[in-house]
Amino acid sequence: MKLLQDKTALITGASRGIGRRHALLFAEEGANIIFTDLKANEQSDSLLEELRAKGVRADFVASNASDFAQAQEVAAWVAEHYGRLDVLVNNAGITRDQLILRMSVEDWNLVLEVNLRSVFNYTKAFAPMMMRQRSGSIVNISSIVGLNGNAGQCNYAASKAGIIGFTRSIAKELGSRGIRCNAVAPGFIETPMTQQLSEEVRKEWMKQIPLHRGGLDTDVAHVSLFLASDLAGYVTGQVISCDGGLAIN
Ligand code: NAD
Repeated sequence: MKLLQDKTALITGASRGIGRRHALLFAEEGANIIFTDLKANEQSDSLLEELRAKGVRADFVASNASDFAQAQEVAAWVAEHYGRLDVLVNNAGITRDQLILRMSVEDWNLVLEVNLRSVFNYTKAFAPMMMRQRSGSIVNISSIVGLNGNAGQCNYAASKAGIIGFTRSIAKELGSRGIRCNAVAPGFIETPMTQQLSEEVRKEWMKQIPLHRGGLDTDVAHVSLFLASDLAGYVTGQVISCDGGLAIN
């Protein structure tokens, strides 16, 4: 039996990167997939094709996760077309790095809106459906930076730390309705963003990681898969780091 057989999962910001890997892995584990991103493009088209080729039901909805009304529309669409949601992965996220003295209020607001407000928007939009079902698993993608902070990323760190407080609160609030809410805190993950770093910077990072390698998008998706599945039926309000041990330094 596959871990998410016949469950329905929604992943925000999943056309590429870590979210895309979640969609593919969850589909391999039997889940029907709805994924969102800002707009349709080649990446969303190809993901849709790959998902359907795995034999599951899949749909893409273009939607800005930081927009409250659009999240409500997505929930209404899912209610009409799928009738339920078992797993919600709040993955959409951005960075606008800058030292505090140079950070603009626009970049502060944008990062908080996309990274944190989106988690509120989607949780609020889908909580009523999950409460009626008396089941559901919400997985929020935070970051090691939300636990430890990082110079030059105060907006991103605040948004990712906010996700952790939100996750623990929702776990307490909705646990009695059979809804679990957890967070994953990825560390240094090999993505186009981190591949742009100089060899010197990468070497410095590797030295600090006990497992001596960057993480893969699959490493993160595996942790989320566990949290999404019934294997984690007694796990809620937790933040699981997926960082090769970086945070224990
Ligand atoms: P990515 O930039 O490759 O992918 C993010 C996706 O989100 C993109 O497809 C983008 O279009 C979409 N998106 C952006 N704003 C959106 C919005 N308002 N509404 C809907 N979709 C939107 O990033 P990634 O590296 O795959 O990161 C995914 C998540 O993992 C983010 O929350 C990020 O903060 C977190 N994370 C990443 C790393 C890392 O090393 N890459 C480490 C820790 C945490």
